[in-house]
Amino acid sequence: SYAIGIDIGGTKIAIGLVNSQGLIAAQTTLPTDLSISPDEMITRVANATTQLLHEHAIPSSLIAGIGVGAPGPINTQKGIIVEPPNLRSWWNFSIIQSLQRYFNFPIFFENDATAAALAEKWVGAAQNLDHFIFMTISTGIGAGIFAHGKLLTGATGNAGDIGHIVIDPAAGHCNCGQDGCFEYIASGTAIARQATQILGRQVTSKETFELAADGHIEMKRLVDQVFSYIAIGCVTLINTFDPEQVIIGGGVSQVGTALFETIQSYVGKNALNPTGRSTPIIPAQLQQNAGLIGAAALVHVSYN
Ligand code: ADP
Ligand code: ZN
Repeated sequence: SYAIGIDIGGTKIAIGLVNSQGLIAAQTTLPTDLSISPDEMITRVANATTQLLHEHAIPSSLIAGIGVGAPGPINTQKGIIVEPPNLRSWWNFSIIQSLQRYFNFPIFFENDATAAALAEKWVGAAQNLDHFIFMTISTGIGAGIFAHGKLLTGATGNAGDIGHIVIDPAAGHCNCGQDGCFEYIASGTAIARQATQILGRQVTSKETFELAADGHIEMKRLVDQVFSYIAIGCVTLINTFDPEQVIIGGGVSQVGTALFETIQSYVGKNALNPTGRSTPIIPAQLQQNAGLIGAAALVHVSYN
């Protein structure tokens, strides 16, 4: 059987037909058009999905359900996208109801990082684990928490929004209202913002890492600081959840082994308990498809 995976993001929506092995049989993406209503955008998604099924001659009798991943805050109890900062025109949108205008399949809905964690459990780096944290460091920072063989979703699907745990209250104002949030100081966006401020010209996070690797002292200092913020975040998660491993994905995690070595060394010294200190910190396996496979995993894998 197949699941229809729908991964909603601020710039694009990925749609995929994913088989019960976790393989993507077909996929397409639509740009997220914020100038039309979310209901109209879902109409486009439904049309693209129907076309995908048609092109690949997959009858609806083979569809086990639809899985949707979306940025939080969401409310899975109510089936609503609540107030994601990058999707302002979708605030308080009843996404499940909107999809039900077109489809009769069961619909599963979780936040995107939680879904990506399930993907890593299903066909990625976490297949043999019963307790792990999946952390994504990209435009923002988020996590999926897997504990006792289950996803920890929280009451409304918002567990794991670690981008807004406070790491350094002296580090400045996050848009959430707190000071010094993890995401405000260590996401790809945060790296670019700080580098731009230091150098007085527009710099991306990728360029920041390149400059640091070439020996640029101020960029090296910034990168070291970001790595140590991420390491502090990892220790907080290890002390809180006692995971077997921490898996890190997202664009910033592509920077390479230095990040993982820094975290491993910091965790080795600073996690509270001896078993925590040796928690392996490893790269995610699925990278750019994690969201889509995760959405489909919500259908194929029993997770709660
Ligand atoms: P999204 O947030 O849309 O899921 P990504 O996971 O690609 O997208 O994350 C985007 C962020 O990661 C950007 O801030 C980008 O600059 C940064 N990034 C992407 N690729 C790399 C890389 N190879 N090295 C360092 N940073 C990267
Ligand atoms: Zn915040």
